[in-house]
Amino acid sequence: MVVKPFFHTGLQFECSRCSHCCRFDPGYVFLTYDDLSRLMRATSLGREHFVREYCRVIDINGFKRLGLKEKKNYDCIMWEESGCRVYAARPFQCRSYPFWTPNLHDIGTWNDLEKSCSGVNKGRCHSRREIENWIKKRAKAQFISMD
Ligand code: SF4
Ligand code: SF4
Repeated sequence: MVVKPFFHTGLQFECSRCSHCCRFDPGYVFLTYDDLSRLMRATSLGREHFVREYCRVIDINGFKRLGLKEKKNYDCIMWEESGCRVYAARPFQCRSYPFWTPNLHDIGTWNDLEKSCSGVNKGRCHSRREIENWIKKRAKAQFISMD
């Protein structure tokens, strides 16, 4: 018997643009090659200039990846008073949130997100197909290696 995922009838999510996931705490925003191209266009910068200005090398257990810098207060380098300055071109990692595999383990892990993300269980219902598409895209995402 095929077991349906807990989200087979879909999950509600609508980003309120509260910026909570962009600010205050240390974190990582890894970049794919598509992200880098989109962000270079959005900022009208060449690769070398963009990387120098906005990127850092993040070492996780010996695996080095290119990611966005953080400010001293841990806000994302792209965050400003009015919100994300590259929202339309934001990285895949930001666009695919909160449909990340660890958040979709079961209804408990999903509902727990309400504590940190005010868009969870609000607004538009995302279908099972949409959610599974995010999971597949995330599994295939090629983050830029700096090894
Ligand atoms: S915490 Fe949730 S609602 Fe707030 S900006 Fe991030 S994704 Fe949007
Ligand atoms: S790129 Fe934009 S959406 Fe992503 S964490 Fe930074 S400020 Fe937030």
